[in-house]
Amino acid sequence: MSKVAHYLQEHLLGEVMTSTDARRYFSTDCSIFSIAPSIVVYPRNENDVRKTARFTWQLAERGRIIPITPRGWGTDLSGGAVGSGIMMVFPAHMNRIVSLDQKPALSSLSLALTTDGFNKHSRPMNGFYPYPASIEYSSIGGAVGNNAAGEKSVKYGVTKDYVKSLRVVLANGR
Ligand SMILES: Cc1cc2nc3c(=O)[nH]c(=O)nc-3n(C[C@H](O)[C@H](O)[C@H](O)COP(=O)(O)OP(=O)(O)OC[C@H]3O[C@@H](n4cnc5c(N)ncnc54)[C@H](O)[C@@H]3O)c2cc1C
Repeated sequence: MSKVAHYLQEHLLGEVMTSTDARRYFSTDCSIFSIAPSIVVYPRNENDVRKTARFTWQLAERGRIIPITPRGWGTDLSGGAVGSGIMMVFPAHMNRIVSLDQKPALSSLSLALTTDGFNKHSRPMNGFYPYPASIEYSSIGGAVGNNAAGEKSVKYGVTKDYVKSLRVVLANGR
């Protein structure tokens, strides 16, 4: 295990993996591209994400660049969910509805929740989010990252029309 992976393992609550199997597994999405990450991180909470970003930011300031690729369910068709460096895999832990408002439009979600999962929970309150066609096996985070759209866009708009606000971790960990 590299020094960077070891440091992350010591400081994160979530798991850190560098095995060949894990790296190979996350080297592809649903595109034609293939890049093996050097480290796979399963963040357990927001703090894990912030710590990872802050650490790589500090390394970058000293000239060592380690990119981070966030990943939902890896159904991206354009290679957006593959990358060298750290693969940050959200579905393992950060996959819940933080709060479900009576008005689903005001619900708060962990972005690794599956799109279909959100629809199932919000349907009794007439909640509805129509995308993507991969709805059963893709995440809200992936849909936001891609601004997913589809055959219903003319009538219902695209993903950005369903996002009221985002709580995000920046590259420097803030
Ligand atoms: C059969 C099939 C049908 C599809 N149909 C459609 C369709 O109708 N419309 C459409 O738009 N797309 C479609 N797609 C593409 C893809 O499924 C969608 O873009 C989906 O929203 C991606 O979700 P994901 O969880 O798999 O994200 P991933 O593939 O894991 O990631 C997608 C992008 O979002 C970023 N990302 C993921 N999670 C986060 C996060 N928490 N924070 C920040 N960035 C994040 C990733 O870095 C990557 O750039 C389809 C794909 C397949 C295989």
